[in-house]
Amino acid sequence: MTSIIKNFPGRHHDHAACIESALEQAVTLCRERGARLTPLRRRVLEIVWESHAPLGAYDALQRMNAGGERNAPPTVYRALEFLLEHGLIHRIESRNAFVGCTTPGNSHKAQFFICRDCGNVAETHSEEIGEAIKASATRTGFLVEKPVVEISGRCLKCHDDE
Ligand SMILES: [Zn+2]
Ligand SMILES: [Zn+2]
Ligand SMILES: [Zn+2]
Repeated sequence: MTSIIKNFPGRHHDHAACIESALEQAVTLCRERGARLTPLRRRVLEIVWESHAPLGAYDALQRMNAGGERNAPPTVYRALEFLLEHGLIHRIESRNAFVGCTTPGNSHKAQFFICRDCGNVAETHSEEIGEAIKASATRTGFLVEKPVVEISGRCLKCHDDE
């Protein structure tokens, strides 16, 4: 049973390096899969990665067009769909928004810790949680479609500041 935690960015987090590595991983992954990471899709991914806090589809559109471009909403929404499909971003259901995946490429069911102060999200992959959900669903004859686990609270940086 493995449990990987992709932690919250700490005080000395180099976010520029973070974005760069995310974009590099995306390029490699899409090349391997023969998927087209068009400049537009790449730009949308970059926008989602601007922070570790979830970004809504409408906000992504606003950011895209901030420089005077006129991308139509469906264009940007379709780019988000593409990124979701390839596991490059995750949807945070409780916020109806998206965050960049820190370990794209290996398919995984992630659980999320969401800080209510800074809004940042950390991703964890716990097989135990997945198994527990499956087991209780089986007991109640429930057919799981979206095993969403999103935990709200405060990250270390935020509750340490007091
Ligand atoms: Zn970062
Ligand atoms: Zn992920
Ligand atoms: Zn925080």
